[in-house]
Amino acid sequence: INLQKAEFILSAVAPKFFLRDGLPQVAFSGRSNVGKSSVINRLLNRKNFARVGAAPGKTTQINYFKIDNAFYLVDLPGYGYAKVSKAERDRWGKLMESYFADPELMTLGVMIVDSRHKPTADDCTMAQWYREAGCPFVVVANKLDKLKKSQVEPNLQVIRETLELGEGDVVIPFSAEKGTGRQELVSAILASVEG
Ligand code: GDP
Repeated sequence: INLQKAEFILSAVAPKFFLRDGLPQVAFSGRSNVGKSSVINRLLNRKNFARVGAAPGKTTQINYFKIDNAFYLVDLPGYGYAKVSKAERDRWGKLMESYFADPELMTLGVMIVDSRHKPTADDCTMAQWYREAGCPFVVVANKLDKLKKSQVEPNLQVIRETLELGEGDVVIPFSAEKGTGRQELVSAILASVEG
């Protein structure tokens, strides 16, 4: 699978637009500004593919990218942006609930958190959604380049505890900026869509 062979397919604003053609789906989620677009760009080795630094939380839509005709990379809308209206938050919740109600579409969740901070309540809810959907997920602890070496292990431990991860759950220390962790994420995704 050539990850650089990526094409944008569509933005779904309602469940009727969800893709259900049997191709596996790898669903990326994260708080606004956590670096989700940057992680996707790094993963695909593309610049400016998924947007970076766009007005956070402005769009309640699910973006589908087809990767080398092998799977869909599903970019779920970011959450936790304070300035979002109640109406938009509700729309976000409905859209996400609908997506997670169809878990057979998902072979892997990629949950992006900020390696500098304790995961938020929203992050914990997100982890719970993947669990309840019965969907395996990996946690990507992004912005690792902003940590001192001595902070890495303690912070990863806080992430594990806060998200209530089990022994077998994978946390990938990652830097979209430097490329750290890319190979581990690639391996997890390929194992999930090829397996
Ligand atoms: P999104 O809202 O989750 O899609 O986040 P973006 O990809 O737009 O990134 C938000 C901000 O964080 C941007 O200014 C990025 O340059 C920055 N950023 C993303 N990943 C990293 C990283 O690994 N290290 C550092 N230092 N900055 C990052």
